[in-house]
Amino acid sequence: MRIGVLAIQGDVREHRRHLERLGIDAPEVRAPQHLDGLAGLIMPGGESSTIGMLMSESGLLDALGQRIRAGFPVYGTCAGMILLANRVEGARGPFPAWLAGLDITVARNAYGRQVQSFEADIPVAELGPEPVRVVFIRAPKVLSHGPGVRVLGSLDGEPVLVEQGALLASSFHPELTDDLRIHRYFADKVRQSQEAAAVASAGP
Ligand code: GLN
Repeated sequence: MRIGVLAIQGDVREHRRHLERLGIDAPEVRAPQHLDGLAGLIMPGGESSTIGMLMSESGLLDALGQRIRAGFPVYGTCAGMILLANRVEGARGPFPAWLAGLDITVARNAYGRQVQSFEADIPVAELGPEPVRVVFIRAPKVLSHGPGVRVLGSLDGEPVLVEQGALLASSFHPELTDDLRIHRYFADKVRQSQEAAAVASAGP
């Protein structure tokens, strides 16, 4: 199974290393043709406007958007969460959505500035009894979400790890700790979606 890592900005190497430690081949993705043969994609943090603009220029934004609408699994961390959000709020008003698909409203930079980056431990029942250490860097805040969104983890009552269908998103950076559980959770989602696709294509 191959899960690509969007290689425009951010912790590309760290995400690839986490996937490779799980035995998953993790090629870098920069252009639409790099999506061929992938079972899923991780989008690292960075600056969502820059990443979105560069993805748009290469045609990757359109190509990935089409796949997402067909059920392609994507995990967006931090800026990646912003790229998946249906509604994006900035300091001076709303931004147009980039890829969309995830029925959440996010506020950019709402967890404070770079120097106010922080860590916390949050419980995530899906990942077992051990809490997950989460690292926030100018992170987006989920202001609201639709009924199809499942909240897997929260901080102070606000969602920070959410999923909807084949999409997973976190406001924090799981690649900056040694804990592989969130990457493993996403890989399991990707596997399930492949199995569902195989059953569907086998027909009745
Ligand atoms: N502040 C960034 C944005 O708005 C996200 C920060 C991050 O990815 N660490 O795109």
